[in-house]
Amino acid sequence: MSDKTSQSKQTAETARKALYLLTERGLSPSPENYAAVYHEISGDELPISGKAPSPLSTEQKIDNDRELISLVLTLISAASEQTGQLASNLGEKNRNIESSVQALEKTDEKQEILGILQIISATARSIQDSVENTSQELISTRSALEEMRAELQETRSQLMLDPLTGARNRFGMDITMGQEISRAKRARSAFSIALLDLDFFKDINDTYGHAAGDLMLQHFTQLSRSVLRESDILFRYGGEEFLLLLPETEMSGAMFMLQRLQQMLAKSPLRHEQGKISATFSAGVTQMLPDDSGPSMLQRADRSLYLAKTQGRNRVLNDLDTPNEPV
Ligand code: GH3
Ligand code: MG
Ligand code: MG
Repeated sequence: MSDKTSQSKQTAETARKALYLLTERGLSPSPENYAAVYHEISGDELPISGKAPSPLSTEQKIDNDRELISLVLTLISAASEQTGQLASNLGEKNRNIESSVQALEKTDEKQEILGILQIISATARSIQDSVENTSQELISTRSALEEMRAELQETRSQLMLDPLTGARNRFGMDITMGQEISRAKRARSAFSIALLDLDFFKDINDTYGHAAGDLMLQHFTQLSRSVLRESDILFRYGGEEFLLLLPETEMSGAMFMLQRLQQMLAKSPLRHEQGKISATFSAGVTQMLPDDSGPSMLQRADRSLYLAKTQGRNRVLNDLDTPNEPV
């Protein structure tokens, strides 16, 4: 290896170290900063001094053009390694540098070299700005997206809730029911549903006022929650009508749960002004059959609810209890 080649390699190595030191310290690769760390590492003055304010005033200090070119090439290759990931954004700037480097390799004119170096330095600065801006933009875009996602999630949940009772509304009910049926079929587990309707609710409104009726709907929902399991889902199906989905529940378990709710409602009248308002409900219960869909289950539950109403209300019936009764 010739002396010149080995010297050039050493300079390139120092340049690489200098660049990493700059990155580590969070300093921009300006000629001034670069010259300072270069000096710190090698103890030598940088062939081109960064301390001079104008590149033109450093002309006399360039005594080894080829060495300088090798140093710049090393800097550029290390810089492009670091900025490689922003290729599409920075493609044009990299092409500027590439053509500057090609021009640099072809020229021996000091004046021209200085001009090209100035272009490279400006482009490098612009790359650094791009990288900083892009990373800032990415951070703010990401947090804006996260906020938006949380808001959407919240809006979506609110949309699916009945504002009066906090039970789910019919929005998404068919989908949820279909999902629960599919899940139960896949897991070969039991699945039951119940349709509930408050009895003589119109009378409550007529006697105590619509606002009291609203309070009764809230009271009933709260009582239901206290007997429901985590996996059970309560929908407000209509005015004073509710649908209950009971995953992993057989008919007997569903009947037991509904009868418990019936007893609780009997024991817990709504406290209203100076008095108490009592209410009852009727319900139709059914368990999923192998070929069932949401509508077929609802049809059976509705039939049992209808029979519970016609048989005197305040009762829970299922389609096994009343298989042949005409509707
Ligand atoms: P049944 O035992 O046959 O179910 O009799 P019912 O009076 O409960 O049934 P009906 O269908 O005759 O009346 C239901 C009443 O529920 C009428 C309606 O004004 C009332 N209602 C529906 N939604 C609300 C509500 O959000 N708030 C109040 N206060 N009343 C409601
Ligand atoms: Mg009713
Ligand atoms: Mg009704």
